[in-house]
Amino acid sequence: MTTDIDPKALEGGYRRLDARLIPILRGERMGCIEWSGYTIKTGSGRYGKISVGGRSMMVHRLAYQRTRGPIPDGLVIDHLCRNTVCCNPLHLEAVTHRTNILRGEGHTARNARKRYCKRGHPLFGENLRITVNGYRNCQKCRTLMQRVRKAIRARGDGASDADG
Ligand SMILES: [Zn+2]
Ligand SMILES: [Zn+2]
Repeated sequence: MTTDIDPKALEGGYRRLDARLIPILRGERMGCIEWSGYTIKTGSGRYGKISVGGRSMMVHRLAYQRTRGPIPDGLVIDHLCRNTVCCNPLHLEAVTHRTNILRGEGHTARNARKRYCKRGHPLFGENLRITVNGYRNCQKCRTLMQRVRKAIRARGDGASDADG
């Protein structure tokens, strides 16, 4: 992909994103950052668009470049969160077009892109926990299981009291 955009114009485009990107990079926000400006609808979803140096650019691509560096030639930016209007760079990954398509169909992809847990809680935003192994876990279910375990333990104690 040729990027013949004036570096100064690109810098200006980056500055327009910074207010949204800084809280993410500081770890203050983890969820999707939905672009509230101009968007276009395509066959694969709605995308934020921004004009940089007289050229129209996808906001998520700009966000990726801003935080992760240039997008390697031939790679496309995949939304791990499946929310195409999201510009949180931590939700983006540069992949080959083939991988992007495979991900859309494969089982691992379905799991990776699952937007709701088996109990129907959202697997994005504040409720999403990404483990060190890269698993996407539900915070609400985790809290729920902790409460259940605690209740079982409490009942167990009660039972042993009754037995004793
Ligand atoms: Zn997202
Ligand atoms: Zn859940």
